[in-house]
Amino acid sequence: MWQPPRPPANEAERLRVLAACNIMDTGQDERFDRLTRLATALYQVDVAFLSFIDDAYQWMKAMSGPGLAPVIERRRTVCNLIVESGQPLVVGDLHTDPRLVGHPVAASLPFRFYAGVPLMMAPDLAVGTLCVLGAAVRETSGVDIAPLTDLGAIAMDELDLWKINQDLKRRADTDSLTGLGNRRAFDEELERAGRRARRTGAPVSLLLVDLDHFKAVNDVSGHPAGDAVLRRAGQRLGQAVHRADDMAARYGGEEFAILLPGTDAAGAAVLAEAIRADIAAADMPHPLTGRVTASIGAATHQGAAADTDRLVAEADRALYRAKALGRDRVVLFEAMGEALTPAALAGAEG
Ligand code: GH3
Ligand code: MG
Ligand code: MG
Repeated sequence: MWQPPRPPANEAERLRVLAACNIMDTGQDERFDRLTRLATALYQVDVAFLSFIDDAYQWMKAMSGPGLAPVIERRRTVCNLIVESGQPLVVGDLHTDPRLVGHPVAASLPFRFYAGVPLMMAPDLAVGTLCVLGAAVRETSGVDIAPLTDLGAIAMDELDLWKINQDLKRRADTDSLTGLGNRRAFDEELERAGRRARRTGAPVSLLLVDLDHFKAVNDVSGHPAGDAVLRRAGQRLGQAVHRADDMAARYGGEEFAILLPGTDAAGAAVLAEAIRADIAAADMPHPLTGRVTASIGAATHQGAAADTDRLVAEADRALYRAKALGRDRVVLFEAMGEALTPAALAGAEG
């Protein structure tokens, strides 16, 4: 007789470990899809699926065929029995099995045969299930669960690798002082934004933000004080960008880059001025000028004309002009009314 599910004794730990995996709601992934295909072929069933079960839902990470919802309320699942017990479950006929009499959905599923194993993150820690489902009733005595258990273990190894990769990628892309994207990540996003602008015809804008007389902060107040200013400035820049595709990065030393795909020159000018004002108002003490300020150079390219090397060179040129005009200001390259010399394009300061 079906009993309403009770979470396992280590449910809080189970949920913590599952959340740390960061796997829920991620996209389709061949490394899990192929395991469900293998399970389908191995057990000659109609569908195999790999699922994770959090406090309220069973979520299908991979499914080899149709017939199942991608998300199921936990209390309406059969798999929750596996998560509760941490043990495999084989059911010859979902419609008549005495353990499932009264189950909210088992008897109305378009499947009769069910076999599933827990996905174990540690002994006693089942975060999900790997299951096979057949439309025909099957004699359970002939079902060998060992290969499914092996596939489940491979899935967990894949999950471990996936987690490590995620973590490595995050670290490789992050500037450790400010927590913003680093130069490597910025260069990658810049190229992507350039390709997208050329493909879609949309504008792409770039702001280069350089702290004014920053060397004096280090020289007078000490390097740790300089680091603290960089951290705070980085934090404010990170908060200044709002669109999902926008990116704030530490471009180098005390220079930051703000990449704004889809933003035109007028939008970039507004944001640049807001950032300038925000830094100036942040009340970061400066030993010579009283408060830390920033100069900003902005440039925008449109669609097919987007050229990322030139965009950087133009924003840099505008930044140089902002410094020359007295700092704590924004200069738009477009407003300068000049073309870049080949030397400036090659990266020489003029
Ligand atoms: P300007 O207004 O012309 O930009 O003058 P500036 O003093 O800001 O520019 P300059 O390029 O002369 O000096 C930049 C300084 O930034 C020098 C360098 O030591 C410092 N710096 C670069 N990276 C770091 C860092 O990670 N931490 C600290 N504390 N200082 C850094
Ligand atoms: Mg500077
Ligand atoms: Mg600088």
